[in-house]
Amino acid sequence: MSASAYEVPVLIVGGGGCGLTLSLLLSDLGVEHLLVERHPGTSILPKAHYLNQRTMEVFRQHGVAESIYAVGTPQKHMSKVRWCTSLGGDGPLDGKTFYAIDAFGGGKTAPIYAQDSPCPSSNYPQIRLEPLLREHAETRAPGRLRYGNELTAFTQDGDGVSATITELASGKRYAVRAQYMVAADGGKTVGPALGIEMQGVGNIARIVSSHVTADLARWWDDEALITWFINPDQSGTFGSGAMVPMGPTWGPRSEEWVIHFNFDPNDPEHIDEVTVVPRLRALLKLPDVAMTVHKVSHWTLEAVLAERYQEGRIFLAGDAAHRHPPTTGLGLNTAVQDAHNLAWKLAAVLRGQAGEGLLTSYASERHAIGRRNVDWAMFTALNHAVLDAGMGFHPGQPQELRRMNFEAFFADTPMGATRRARAAEVFETQRTEFQAHDLEIGFAYTEGALVLDDSAPHVPDPMGHRYQPTTRPGHRLPHAWLRCGGERLSTLDLAGRAGGWVLLTGDGDAWRDAAERAAVKYGVALSVAAIGAGQACADDEGRWSRLRETGEAGALLVRPDNHVAWRCQGMPGDGAAPTLDGVFRALLARA
Ligand SMILES: Cc1cc2nc3c(=O)[nH]c(=O)nc-3n(C[C@H](O)[C@H](O)[C@H](O)COP(=O)(O)OP(=O)(O)OC[C@H]3O[C@@H](n4cnc5c(N)ncnc54)[C@H](O)[C@@H]3O)c2cc1C
Repeated sequence: MSASAYEVPVLIVGGGGCGLTLSLLLSDLGVEHLLVERHPGTSILPKAHYLNQRTMEVFRQHGVAESIYAVGTPQKHMSKVRWCTSLGGDGPLDGKTFYAIDAFGGGKTAPIYAQDSPCPSSNYPQIRLEPLLREHAETRAPGRLRYGNELTAFTQDGDGVSATITELASGKRYAVRAQYMVAADGGKTVGPALGIEMQGVGNIARIVSSHVTADLARWWDDEALITWFINPDQSGTFGSGAMVPMGPTWGPRSEEWVIHFNFDPNDPEHIDEVTVVPRLRALLKLPDVAMTVHKVSHWTLEAVLAERYQEGRIFLAGDAAHRHPPTTGLGLNTAVQDAHNLAWKLAAVLRGQAGEGLLTSYASERHAIGRRNVDWAMFTALNHAVLDAGMGFHPGQPQELRRMNFEAFFADTPMGATRRARAAEVFETQRTEFQAHDLEIGFAYTEGALVLDDSAPHVPDPMGHRYQPTTRPGHRLPHAWLRCGGERLSTLDLAGRAGGWVLLTGDGDAWRDAAERAAVKYGVALSVAAIGAGQACADDEGRWSRLRETGEAGALLVRPDNHVAWRCQGMPGDGAAPTLDGVFRALLARA
């Protein structure tokens, strides 16, 4: 180690959604860190925008959610996704809607989403979200986020990671010595240098995304967050394009928009900020619309997962670990949730509360989720071809047949009605993408920092929609509203922003001593939340007593990231159940 190295417990490489989230979470946990980002500022591309309920719960736990809700898309402007022929045009097939599906917790799904989480989903594109996260992170850790600073070399040994950082403006290099390094670098640097293979399909399609300003208020549906286009002059749903408002005003009056479309690699034309304009006007069928193009980006659709998330003292997170199609909006959401899983574990190990094995559980828990999310994103992307078929469209179809299908679909005839009815059934299969409620909040860890019981594993809805709350270890703690000392709290509010664990029980007296002993012995913050008649928290709606799946005197041990670590049906030390002491020893990987 160089004598002059800047020493820090955690070095975060990358200041995208993953790195910024990790920074602010580590600050809340009291962990010193340094974040380096090679770009001079936050993303200039709108990229991801949908923030699912689980992500908003993470932001709620860390005091960020309200600032996102204040500026993000109101629910009424993000409650539908629709498939249309075009926005404008005056031909018989222009401006027609094939189908609209309730989405993101809107429409008929609203009561279900509201009952299962204290947080509605939100929408805020990365181009705006990253500055907001940066502000939160810098307020918590002034001077610890260094933009225009690139990780250019690193080595690791048994005690830590030695990194070389280059300040790009001056070319000046400096050394950093960290106990742990997190590669939140989108897979640009660290994983490839470690030789970690990205497994899967790397070159599925080439996409062109255009970020534009245009006044489209006359043509945009008030409730739609995404409009997919398919019209007789284009091929396939994906090939025809998808469009999303980017704000800052939401709904039809959005000033900015993003339009994605497939780009044929054999297309001789280079699509740039100038040549894209006629294509966009043709797609929208608005030949004269005024449009300012901010940025055209070319990117490749992949479905790849890192073969491993950990190499010694280095962890991969976010896009560095998994990259997949944007369908279902899992990229940024999974990145934020990776950071949430890793942050409290780093804090516990750095505080000496836990052994290194706790960090290994990050890799096993999140790798399984990464596998599932890569597969799911790929599945929902490919299901767009099923939607095409549901409308009667097939790749390579002769143009006359294609036009005939369009005419037949919208015809005011019994056969037209039959075609529309069939399409409606087929479009509803896309609830796997736009109503993926169970996939988003019902996921569970099956091995890791948990003490499993002998209950039957939960069988998830194969369509990823119907969420069934359960307190089986590994699952996210179900949400129920409680009244605690005059305050309305979610069960999810009881585990801590500052890394605290919580024991939920119907009988506080029975568990208080065991909890205090475990807290002292393991040096952890562990509170007892007693819920029920005569206890500190009232379950006025009775929802918690229906969901807890433990007896009155039983208890649930919840990790700082709100996943259930262990549950006990009866009193402490009852029967064959392990003791709280033994449970903590196992969870914290203490010898
Ligand atoms: C054009 C585009 C559109 C997208 N659209 C969607 C969408 O609609 N929905 C969705 O869910 N997802 C979308 N994604 C994916 C989504 O943006 C990512 O999943 C998300 O950005 C992941 O965040 P991250 O922080 O892990 O990685 P990134 O956002 O890639 O951030 C990584 C950061 O690390 C920095 N970095 C890399 N190497 C170094 C180094 N050596 N030193 C210092 N810094 C370094 C990079 O500059 C970068 O800022 C899109 C991606 C792209 C490219």
